[in-house]
Amino acid sequence: MSSNPIQSEKSPHILVLGMGGTIAGLANSPDKPLEYAAGQVGVDSLVSHIASAIPKNVKLVSHQLANINSRNLSESLLSLLGEAVRAALENPAVLGIVVTHGTDTIEETGVFLQLTCGQHANQVGKRVILTGAMLPSNAPGADGPSNLLDAIKWAATPLDNCPGGIYAVMDGRACMAMDLAKRHPTALNASLQAAPSSSAGLINPSWLSGVKAVQSAWTEDLPIPRQTEWPWVEILTSHAGARPETVSLWVESPVQGLVLAGSGMGGFHDAWQAPLVQAASKGIALVRTTRTGSGSTLPNIPEKDLAGCLAAGALSAPRARIALQLALNAEKLAKIVGKPLTWQDFFARIAVLPVIR
Ligand code: ASP
Repeated sequence: MSSNPIQSEKSPHILVLGMGGTIAGLANSPDKPLEYAAGQVGVDSLVSHIASAIPKNVKLVSHQLANINSRNLSESLLSLLGEAVRAALENPAVLGIVVTHGTDTIEETGVFLQLTCGQHANQVGKRVILTGAMLPSNAPGADGPSNLLDAIKWAATPLDNCPGGIYAVMDGRACMAMDLAKRHPTALNASLQAAPSSSAGLINPSWLSGVKAVQSAWTEDLPIPRQTEWPWVEILTSHAGARPETVSLWVESPVQGLVLAGSGMGGFHDAWQAPLVQAASKGIALVRTTRTGSGSTLPNIPEKDLAGCLAAGALSAPRARIALQLALNAEKLAKIVGKPLTWQDFFARIAVLPVIR
């Protein structure tokens, strides 16, 4: 990282990290905005496009980490982003950080940054703000420029009204990044439909007290896995006609964990019971969540959890998968230094994080 502008700029600035997405997308023809390629425009251009609207006292430094369609997000890129965010949190010249990202998997990145950098951001009093767009950059009425401007302004706003932490801004609304999820394929507010949020400029006090409750519960960040050392975890969805093979095919594989996206309260088809007992006895970590799209998966409701299987609280299946990967990685690192902590110890801290309403 020594030759990049992240380290070399010494005057106070906001760092904008580019990951790609529709915000950096280009449509073949502006009258067909849904026919576009994501991750085409450099983050420098996105920033210079809104330069005239940026307050004069705000200096920006941008850096391209990737320029992808986020449906192709990889675990190694998450590690790269996490390390870049950590370095920026430690750099006294960086006042705040904005990440431009595709909305397809912004849900994974949001929870990843909260669990690996959330405590640190809060402690050093810096905001890390994820943003994206639903329309490509050359579409009429593109939402990217206003989302990016909101994110930059908020990253640069003094902390009086809202503490340092990991947030997201889309469509004029702000939320914790771990609450952001795409819940509609095309709507401009697709990523905020299910998230408790506040207006980006005018923080709502009840939302803010929820943020503070999450931040006081999250007292220790988890390690960022090395780029090539992410534990292998899959998501399996229970459904009508589920077959035992959906689970048993994994039992002899090197998979380290399974997230079970169950029906209703997070129960799964009876056909899975026997192979799941087998998977657990092979040491495969099991986590249970709900495919309903909202609400919490509680332990032991409606039936007893299998030994060692944990309910995922309010985490959706994609978030529970990242959380389980980080918990398995933390268990591995704890073992190396002789600490008798299990993935369940780490995962349980995540699953009980307060839910903002
Ligand atoms: N497929 C795009 C991506 O996630 C969608 C978007 O950015 O809104 O990169």
